[in-house]
Amino acid sequence: MSTDCLFCRIIDGDAPAEKVYEDDDVIAFRDIFPAAPTHCLIIPRKHINTLNDADESDTQVLGKLMLTASRLAKEAGIGESGYRVAMNCNRGAGQSVFHIHLHLLGGRQMKWPPG
Ligand code: C5P
Repeated sequence: MSTDCLFCRIIDGDAPAEKVYEDDDVIAFRDIFPAAPTHCLIIPRKHINTLNDADESDTQVLGKLMLTASRLAKEAGIGESGYRVAMNCNRGAGQSVFHIHLHLLGGRQMKWPPG
């Protein structure tokens, strides 16, 4: 846990978030600046700065992020119409919060490449 980390504070309940899922490994909440009708962030409880900092011991939780995205997409009714999962790694890719998070985006036609 890092007290400097906004997402660690959300995990601890010290910063607000509209949570949509949580278990022992991950939590998910609505993005405050949604880029699509469905836009959630799925994060590990463990603080990991970037995907570059994950290692073999994180294999299970990384898989859990993906499976949670799929579960939430189905619950949101976008499992069949389509959705995107994305993780930005470092500033050049657009990462602004340095606690890894998987974006779940859907509910509109997605474009490729994302830009
Ligand atoms: O991939 P990136 O690091 O840019 O994503 C961070 C995301 O966290 C942004 O989409 C931003 O809107 C979201 N955010 C949030 N709640 C906050 C601060 C940021 O949902 N309090």
